[in-house]
Amino acid sequence: MSELKKFRVMYKIQVCLLGCLLSLACSAKDTIVYSSPFDFPLLLSANFGELRTNHFHNGLDIKTKGSVGHPVRCIADGYVARVAVQHGGYGQAIYIAHPNGQTSVYGHVLRFAPKVERFVRNYQYANETFVCNLYPKPAMFPVKKGDIIAWSGNEGASAGPHLHLELRKTATDEYLNPMPYFKKYLSDTKAPVATHLAVYPVLGQGVVEGSYRKKMIPVASVSLIHAWGKIYAGISAKDLMNNTHNVYGVHSVTLYVDDKKVFHSVTDAVLPDENRMINSFVDFDERVRTRRWIMRSYKEPGNRLRLLKVGPERGIVTVSEERDYHFRYVLEDDFGNRRTYRFTVRGKKQSLPALPPFEGEWLRVSRNTIVQRPGLELMVPKGYVYTDVPLDVHVIPDSVGVSYKYVLDAGNTPLHSYCPLAIGVRNMPVSNPKKYYLKQQDGKWSGPVIGKLEKGWYRAKVRALGTFSVAVDTVPPVITPVERTKWKATRNIRMKVKDEASGIAAYKVFVDGKFVLFGLKKGVLVIQDKEKIKRGVPHVVKVIVTDCCGNETRKQFKI
Ligand SMILES: [Zn+2]
Repeated sequence: MSELKKFRVMYKIQVCLLGCLLSLACSAKDTIVYSSPFDFPLLLSANFGELRTNHFHNGLDIKTKGSVGHPVRCIADGYVARVAVQHGGYGQAIYIAHPNGQTSVYGHVLRFAPKVERFVRNYQYANETFVCNLYPKPAMFPVKKGDIIAWSGNEGASAGPHLHLELRKTATDEYLNPMPYFKKYLSDTKAPVATHLAVYPVLGQGVVEGSYRKKMIPVASVSLIHAWGKIYAGISAKDLMNNTHNVYGVHSVTLYVDDKKVFHSVTDAVLPDENRMINSFVDFDERVRTRRWIMRSYKEPGNRLRLLKVGPERGIVTVSEERDYHFRYVLEDDFGNRRTYRFTVRGKKQSLPALPPFEGEWLRVSRNTIVQRPGLELMVPKGYVYTDVPLDVHVIPDSVGVSYKYVLDAGNTPLHSYCPLAIGVRNMPVSNPKKYYLKQQDGKWSGPVIGKLEKGWYRAKVRALGTFSVAVDTVPPVITPVERTKWKATRNIRMKVKDEASGIAAYKVFVDGKFVLFGLKKGVLVIQDKEKIKRGVPHVVKVIVTDCCGNETRKQFKI
């Protein structure tokens, strides 16, 4: 064998080996097997990627037969990496880190496994706090596949008993679609269904049915649409599964125009920082005004969502010929069920309608924007709007108010994250600077934003535009006992707590002078350790509730 031949053979063997190793590595990743967290057949009330307010749904919501207290089993070997207790969100959640670099998260649980429950309780009592976020050492709570790690519940921001099951990349907290691992437990032969189609003219560059406004069409009555210039499309759709009446997010949307793919989305992985970009993917204005979700087949310049695949046109279609343009949407779910929707846009040459005049300033995607008026300073950092938008600022003078009212109006425009806002204080009816807060109004709704009063300015960070003014809260929270007459018999001590202005900041409950753990659940303080109340023994329950402006209410009850 010549040297060259030898080299070639060796090279081939090496390439072969490398190939084998690579395929081994890939198949190792592909063969991760997760078991079911429940002993009963699975049904979902939500899937991964379902459209939600300010986020994609990050996991699977598994129904628990309408009741709480079902054992939750760990889906693979690993260790308890984190335990979190909070008022909203997942309420109580347990995180298991697995050797494959993924973490499984179990949310809204009623109770943790006894050892973990004890660990959490010890922390809560030592720190006199219900809310906690703990990271036990890996050696502390190792778990095996099938171990009971919790009991299912309805805790936190949950509208009914279910388990929120999530998979994340441990290193980055990237949310992963669990469906590929769990579809073997589910059945789905139903394709996604659309309800509406939408065609949008690009502002100032396109026209749809003679107007610079969008055109919405129910799929049942879709007909010919006339347009000219730059336009893009959108679709309102949901997915269905077998054996339930729930509706789900559509896993994949593809738009073809004259058989050319112009837009494609597949919701399989979302980074925490991408989550709010859902507000750019969907027609945010439509959502705010009508509650309807429309997925736009257009990627705005500031939208960094990796799950949206577009060419250099970002999904925009240029209608520049007087002919028919054939639009075809293909919707697909996780199980490969597909449905197609077609409609025709007819090019009709026409002049673009004049836009209404605008004399305000612009919030820009590509740079920090500082908006200043007497008594107002707003900074919108680069990338915090997803497209350039005009901003109108109205100042509403108020000679007796703490501050003027400032209307920051950019239509229904989402902000990506918190923007610093400062409002000048004109009157100080109380001298304590802690009593001031920023009041945000949006139509009939109003809510507090907590910041700091310094040198005549109230400074806070806002995540939405709207109407802002500075207000004072000197009114302490209200505590109302719930079913007090039954406390003695049931030991189920509950108190409704409410603060109209700045909101509840903290609470503590003492029984016979000793701290007893209560949790704030959907506005009600609920005892967590009924055992601390002995039957047939008189007790004194003392409650202290503080609002965000430091106003305090103390109440005492005898049982
Ligand atoms: Zn969920």
